[in-house]
Amino acid sequence: AAKARGKACYQVFETRMHEQLLDRLDSESRLRDAVHRGELRVDLQPVVEVATRRTRGVEALVRWADPERGLQPPGAFIPLAEETGLITEIDRWMLNEACRLVREWQRTAPESAPAWVSVNLSAANLEVPDLTDRVAYALASTGLPPESLVLELTETVLMRDLAVTATRLEELRELGVRIAIDDFGTGYSSLGYLRDIPVDVLKVDRSFITGLAGNERQQQLVSAVLQLGHTLGLKVVAEGVETEEQLALLAAMDCRYAQGYHLGRPEPAADLMRRSAAVSVI
Ligand code: C2E
Ligand code: MG
Ligand code: MG
Ligand code: MG
Repeated sequence: AAKARGKACYQVFETRMHEQLLDRLDSESRLRDAVHRGELRVDLQPVVEVATRRTRGVEALVRWADPERGLQPPGAFIPLAEETGLITEIDRWMLNEACRLVREWQRTAPESAPAWVSVNLSAANLEVPDLTDRVAYALASTGLPPESLVLELTETVLMRDLAVTATRLEELRELGVRIAIDDFGTGYSSLGYLRDIPVDVLKVDRSFITGLAGNERQQQLVSAVLQLGHTLGLKVVAEGVETEEQLALLAAMDCRYAQGYHLGRPEPAADLMRRSAAVSVI
């Protein structure tokens, strides 16, 4: 009986694996078409100057309006996109679209428009031979000034091959764009890359901001990271600021830029533009 049950179990297992495989293939082919079908969407989240509370930059975050499953956050499809190599197409689309949106905003409402837009690039982009051309094309075709574009990479990307990465990033910086280290402090960081790699912005990961209030050790750590960044002449952005208390603590540490739900959630560009224009009139 045990043997029969084992066999039945195995069949259930096999069927489920089969279903999962089909499901994955289905998701993959739909994701492949999503770009061409215009199902991807850019949300923008404000990056605020702490002292003035003014929006100085925005970060472009991808969403997928999947006709079958509804609006999907990046966590629901970026891993699959990275495994299948689709990510470089998604990132290319995001790059162009984010540059277009922000250029349009700067053109139509310069008084409320952000000075820069950040675009996230997954690791695989550094292996795209014409990455620099793609970035140059996005700038040239939209008219966005190079100094208005920031490319966000995570530490794990930088840990790959420092020499190759340094060369790629140097090429990009020659265009006039800036490089940000995203989720700073969460990778297997070696401070070596801050010496070898041309970096302009550090984004302190949300995990260092959560629980900041009431944790003196964590406050000292964040304060030290801010000092390190500022000493190196970098802009430092605190990510994931969710409360006024966190913001006040960061202000007391001379943190200049912050991003988080407390300051503004990611939302469609048109909505953010409309509200920002209304605010700047007041
Ligand atoms: P990230 O680049 O670190 O972006 C910040 C993430 O934190 C966003 O999640 C944002 O919505 C969320 N966030 C912002 N403020 C707060 C806060 O106060 N509290 C909390 N709990 N969360 C906050 P999202 O949009 O789900 O994106 C997740 C990640 O997906 C991004 O992390 C980025 O690594 C990746 N991603 C997003 N768009 C793209 C893209 O176009 N290309 C690539 N390659 N990756 C992307
Ligand atoms: Mg980011
Ligand atoms: Mg981040
Ligand atoms: Mg993060």
